[in-house]
Amino acid sequence: MKLGIFDEHRLGLVIGEEMVDVTEALPHYDPGYAANFWLRMCRDFDVLRPRIERASREGLRKPLERVRLMAPVLNPSKIIAAASNYQEHVTEMAARPGVHTWLLDFDVFLKAPSSIIGPSETVVLPNLPGREIHHESELALVLGKGGRNIPENEALSHVLGYTILIDVTLRGEGDRSRRKSYDGFTPMGPWLVSADEIGDPQDLDIRLWVDGTLRQSVNTRDMLVKIPGIISYVSSVMTLNPGDVITTGAPPGVGEIRPGQIMTVEIEKIGRMEIPVRGTQG
Ligand code: MN
Repeated sequence: MKLGIFDEHRLGLVIGEEMVDVTEALPHYDPGYAANFWLRMCRDFDVLRPRIERASREGLRKPLERVRLMAPVLNPSKIIAAASNYQEHVTEMAARPGVHTWLLDFDVFLKAPSSIIGPSETVVLPNLPGREIHHESELALVLGKGGRNIPENEALSHVLGYTILIDVTLRGEGDRSRRKSYDGFTPMGPWLVSADEIGDPQDLDIRLWVDGTLRQSVNTRDMLVKIPGIISYVSSVMTLNPGDVITTGAPPGVGEIRPGQIMTVEIEKIGRMEIPVRGTQG
C-alpha cells in the first residue's frame, strides 16, 4: 500500500498512475492547524487499513501528475537521524580536513520537523558564503506503534512504512542538529510504502543523481547498524511516538549541491523524486 498526502492535506492511495482519495476512511479527519489525522492514522493503521482499502474502491481518482504531492508525514514529534552508518561514508568523511573523530562513530541526532518539504517543492539554500551544503540520500521509516526500550526482535513490527528522505547538510563546524535543520533541508516523498510491501528493508538499492550524474549508489544491506538496531537504540533513549520519522544514514558519495541543480533520488520498491535546488536570489 502506497500512502500519500496530497493537495489540501487529503489522504490518498497511489494505485498505478493514479491517486485515489481515501480521506473518508479516517474517523477523525481534520486538516486544520496542527492537524493530527496523520498521526492517528499511524497509530491506528492496523484497524484503519481495511477501511482505507474499502474507501479506495470508490474514492475519487486523479492522475498522479494532476495532484500536488506533499511529504508523506505530518507533524511528526521528531525526526531521528542515524549518522555514520555506512563504512564507505565514514571513510570519505574521515578524509575531510578537520572532522572530529567522534563524528565518525555511529550515533543519532535530531532534525527539526519544520525542515520537512514535499516532493513537489524546492530546496532553497541559505546564503552562507564559503560553506558547502551537501546531499545525503537516505531510506527513512515512519513509526506506526510507538514505544520505549523496544527489543531488536520486535522493532520491525513498529514500522508502518518506508519512504525517501534527503538529509540536506551544511558541512563544517557546528552542531549537527542545527546544520541539518534549515527550512527545506528535509525533502521527503514521494509517498509512504507500507512495510508489508517492502519485505526486507535491508535489501534496497538507493541512488541519487545531481543533474543526471550518479553521485550515490548503495544497497541498504551495507548499513553498519541495521534498522532493528537503530530502533532499539533510539527507543532506549527516547519514547517513540506514532508518526515519528527515523532516517537511516548517508551512503557514500555525498557532495555539494548548488542553485540551479536538480537532485533525483530513487529507492527500489518505493519510487523516485526530483527536487530542484535554488538560492535565496532564485
Ligand atoms: Mn544523514
